[in-house]
Amino acid sequence: MKGNILILGGGACGLSAAWELCKHGYNVTVLEKESRVGGLCITNEFKGYRFDLGGHRFISKNKELVEDVCKMMGDKLLTSSRKSVILLKGKVFDYPLSAKDIFLKMDMWTNTKSFLSYLVAVFSRIVFRRKDVSFEDWIVHRFGRTLYNLFFGPYTEKLWGISPKKISSDWASQRISLLNLRDVLFRLLKLKKGTPRTYAKGYYYPKKGIGQMFDMMGSEIEKLGGKIVLNAEVQRVHINNNTITGVRYLDNGIEKNIDCDAVISTISLPDLIKAFPKQFTYDMEKHVSSLKFRAVRFLNMLVDMPDISDNTWMYVSEGKYIMTRIQEPKRRSPFSAPEGKTSVMLEIPCNEGDETWSCSKEKLLERCLKDLKDLGFDIRDKVIDYFTTSVTQGYPVYTLDYVEHRQKLFDFLEKYENIITCGRQGTFRYIFMDIAMEMGIAAAQHLMLDRVSKKDTIHYMRSEKELIEVSSVTS
Ligand SMILES: Cc1cc2nc3c(=O)[nH]c(=O)nc-3n(C[C@H](O)[C@H](O)[C@H](O)COP(=O)(O)OP(=O)(O)OC[C@H]3O[C@@H](n4cnc5c(N)ncnc54)[C@H](O)[C@@H]3O)c2cc1C
Repeated sequence: MKGNILILGGGACGLSAAWELCKHGYNVTVLEKESRVGGLCITNEFKGYRFDLGGHRFISKNKELVEDVCKMMGDKLLTSSRKSVILLKGKVFDYPLSAKDIFLKMDMWTNTKSFLSYLVAVFSRIVFRRKDVSFEDWIVHRFGRTLYNLFFGPYTEKLWGISPKKISSDWASQRISLLNLRDVLFRLLKLKKGTPRTYAKGYYYPKKGIGQMFDMMGSEIEKLGGKIVLNAEVQRVHINNNTITGVRYLDNGIEKNIDCDAVISTISLPDLIKAFPKQFTYDMEKHVSSLKFRAVRFLNMLVDMPDISDNTWMYVSEGKYIMTRIQEPKRRSPFSAPEGKTSVMLEIPCNEGDETWSCSKEKLLERCLKDLKDLGFDIRDKVIDYFTTSVTQGYPVYTLDYVEHRQKLFDFLEKYENIITCGRQGTFRYIFMDIAMEMGIAAAQHLMLDRVSKKDTIHYMRSEKELIEVSSVTS
């Protein structure tokens, strides 16, 4: 089918879909509510410093995708190498966690306890056939209670703001870098091959931050005749029988309508359902309100020092510190800070409207500088300037019953043949940018090939076991 295709949302997924369709001569319009494209993959520039919304890196197993990105970016794409650590109890541990490192850095008592609790976990898993329902179950069954209490529990509770007992085991199975102690042992003995994403050190990164990749993709789309409408917030979906005929959006505050033949939506799944006329969605409300997102605030500091450390990421597990990760953008690209200077970015998870979300930037800076000093980075006198950024839909919260609620929303959309939802927010899946891009391309192909594939193959793409293992512990 050829015709007018609307793409809702101009992030990694939406732009990839638009790019694919434009390459094949389709009429495409992207509606993006912000004043620029990129979504979670934007880079903010301030006084010669550059900060992503949480440092991003581009890795993909899809050769074609990598080739397309490399071709588009040319010499603006750098290859970088990652070194990450975990800060815990005044010590620095390897990331991903390694059994050898834990053994060498922990005292004898903790090591003995860890080993014994691991044996108990293995024993009870085999004998009592315990099931993994929650995140806590998943970890305790594989690592034992002691390592859970030390590394995984506190970090997870801080990241999500709820008890790991209430988080689905899906999140662990998809994100835990150290798959289990046996896996680590096998890798040490070279009995297991392959490089899971977590273990991957090399990655691509644009000179001017991850946002450069999507700014360039936006230009490519426009060169091919695609339209990108910024400051356009989608509000309503128009329906005729089981067909989407157009959408209403606010363009700089003015209501506008646009007709279409098909829609690829990458806005959040609950927001999309809310955009349908109410009479169609009356029994969807419970499912819509059950899918929640965790917000993130970022504190971006310009620092008058050449370097802070040689780490790309430093994970902060302990709950008493406000941030989950400390990053030095210069480690990704030297163009992230002026020569001789550096910068620090902190990721601070919170809920929209809570104390952390609402507190002044001065108060947030004060709290963070105190925490940083305690962690061994006393940079108070070196901070030249700072600013905060935030996202409301940072992480889809995998509660124990999220799958059931999400499926109800997918089922609802199934009735409407000419709309497909995809992307991180659109499928309520904790996916990385490369998978969001692949989904966008797959959604475009789904429309171009007259919907021969099932929508579910796109919703769940790359969720098979082999690829679950290539994911990492955090975003
Ligand atoms: C802190 C953090 C760090 C990360 N690090 C990495 C990393 O290192 N590597 C990696 O691969 N991935 C990383 N990710 C994940 C990556 O950012 C996402 O997978 C990817 O950006 C998802 O793209 P998307 O297009 O699906 O969603 P989004 O980027 O969220 O795009 C959705 C778009 O829709 C727009 N929109 C929403 N509502 C409306 C509306 N009503 N009308 C119009 N437009 C609307 C939004 O403004 C946005 O532009 C990270 C994520 C976070 C939060």
